Amino acid sequence: MTTEYRVALDREACDGIFACLVRDDRFVEATDGLATIGAGASDPDETVVATFDDDRIEDARQAAAACPVDAISVREDDDE
Ligand code: SF4
Repeated sequence: MTTEYRVALDREACDGIFACLVRDDRFVEATDGLATIGAGASDPDETVVATFDDDRIEDARQAAAACPVDAISVREDDDE
């Protein structure tokens, strides 16, 4: 079953600890040493938002839960 959801990463809060990367490989290290979402992204500023429609929301939630500074939020698209 797939879910539509939105993942936001607050790069101002991110401390480059990379607990998220090992839980969900969509989080990657950007060239500035902080995390970003998706391959190939380079030094995006502030908040990075990506939407997905797949069966991996649990991976994103695990990454969010693992982040020590709560920089990641995951929201299902029907939640308001
Ligand atoms: S776990 Fe949090 S602080 Fe660490 S890299 Fe990921 S988003 Fe940044």
